[in-house]
Amino acid sequence: MGGLGVRKLAHFNQALLGKWFWRFGQERTSLWRRVIATKYGEGQGGWNTKDCRRAHGCGLWRGINVGWERFSKHLAFVVGDGSRIRFWHDRWVGDFSLKMLYPQLYACSSDKEAFISDLVDHQEDGSSRCWNVRFYRNFHEREFEAAFSFLELIQAQIPRGIGWDRPLWRLNRNGKFDTWSFYHKIRSTTPSYFPWKGIWKVKVPKRVAFFLWTATHGWILTLDNLMLRSLPLANRCCMCCCSAKSVDHLLIHCPVAYYIWVQMLQAFGVQWVMPGSVESLVFC
Ligand SMILES: [Zn+2]
Repeated sequence: MGGLGVRKLAHFNQALLGKWFWRFGQERTSLWRRVIATKYGEGQGGWNTKDCRRAHGCGLWRGINVGWERFSKHLAFVVGDGSRIRFWHDRWVGDFSLKMLYPQLYACSSDKEAFISDLVDHQEDGSSRCWNVRFYRNFHEREFEAAFSFLELIQAQIPRGIGWDRPLWRLNRNGKFDTWSFYHKIRSTTPSYFPWKGIWKVKVPKRVAFFLWTATHGWILTLDNLMLRSLPLANRCCMCCCSAKSVDHLLIHCPVAYYIWVQMLQAFGVQWVMPGSVESLVFC
């Protein structure tokens, strides 16, 4: 949230679009999903389409798909029959994929792109199931420790092969996607370049802080902003009568404003080089 409780719209929009990824992975029979899957092709496992950035023409889904990387970071899976979850690449045992936990073993795996169901063998009578993960060479001694740990881990996770594979939203305790959890994650991981501390944490009357907030965004009613609202005006600074009037000119660069700044700073014995914009000034 911003200082006035206004949501950052770009982030909120991204969070809302996450809903479409969530639905795409699950609503396999919906018409909208089938249309998109036919147009762009399904990605592995069918949780998303193939990468459609290079497709020709413009499409709504292509715009949405830009956010897939950010969304998929928070996705894990609950194994059902294992037919849609990739053994090495997807997160299905804890917070990391097996590829990340055991990179040295992944490197010598024979089935790097296999799905879980491809690597489970069944007894003929269906009574028991066991892993059949193959490697194209024997392990070196230095790899034994990792290999034992790997076998121990997957042995405890043999899928029962019942039901559908399901996505799990890691930002929510109940495992289901919700826009708010995604929005807060995006907000907390995106660095803020807005100098909110210099505006809202300073002990000044609220109306002064509000004016500064508006000026920093460049929204105060200077002539250039009024002209953007189609008002027929001649843009000339009313104080110096030469330059066009913009927020930065009015508050910093206008000779009249600059004179006031210099007088005030000198009174406090401060040597100062004025920055180029109001935003940079508030950061100082
Ligand atoms: Zn001026």
